[in-house]
Amino acid sequence: MVALAMEKGGVAKTTSAVNIAAALALKGKRVLLVDSDPQANATAACYSKELEGDLYTVYGEDELTAEALMNNVIVETEHGFHLLPSSRDLSGIEGEALLKDNPAYGLLLAKTLEPVRDLFEYIIIDSPPNLGTLTANALVAATDVMIPLQPEMHAVDGLGSLIDTISKVRVLNPYLNIAGIFLTMVERNSLHRDIEEDARSSLTEMGVKVFDTKIKRTIKFGQAADRGRPAVLEFPKHHSVRAYLDLVEEAFDV
Ligand code: ADP
Ligand code: MG
Repeated sequence: MVALAMEKGGVAKTTSAVNIAAALALKGKRVLLVDSDPQANATAACYSKELEGDLYTVYGEDELTAEALMNNVIVETEHGFHLLPSSRDLSGIEGEALLKDNPAYGLLLAKTLEPVRDLFEYIIIDSPPNLGTLTANALVAATDVMIPLQPEMHAVDGLGSLIDTISKVRVLNPYLNIAGIFLTMVERNSLHRDIEEDARSSLTEMGVKVFDTKIKRTIKFGQAADRGRPAVLEFPKHHSVRAYLDLVEEAFDV
């Protein structure tokens, strides 16, 4: 179970979650994408039919069966993977479940997903652009976290609070593994080249893996999201889009 996390917005968490899910499905894996962001961008990017329920309606429920989840909230997308969709309501969780008041609030998502854990080979969780209750829950439920990083000045400094949060979450999830950081929205210019080189060396020094695969900047990701399809399916031959297939091969050895 892999969480995509990063404190900032607009760094390609959702794009990556959707395309990693689709890429794993293309490789024949049974995949569930969990949209744990109230903005519901991942839901919009891969499902357009009406929904009967969403993550909010089952958040923290620990008496649901796999069957109930599969029949009532989890939907099958047209892209070869399943989706546990989000809605605006989910923003209530940040307010309702204050982690600092009760650490058990960190276990809500893990509880929800427990019955379906074994039905999927990969569960990919998209999280919101902050380090609140929803992200903490994603990190507690996950076995691994993947972190998208945009090549910007001080990009690596910005990782500090995420790494702190990961350390705190290890109280509830001791084996949470940082699978690695991958660069996204990379442009071909000397500034990006320098930043990438610095980021790679300082992260490697910190003992954090940086994937060789990087995702270049291309309009194709936005276009695909507009059409409600993962880019790896909408533009299967586009070189920069195909990088997500390389990324899943590198990350999951599939
Ligand atoms: P987050 O979930 O971290 O907020 P998104 O995945 O929604 O980020 O991406 C933010 C915006 O950047 C979206 O409009 C998306 O289409 C676009 N985007 C994502 N990846 C790339 C890329 N490699 N090249 C260009 N645009 C991208
Ligand atoms: Mg997002």
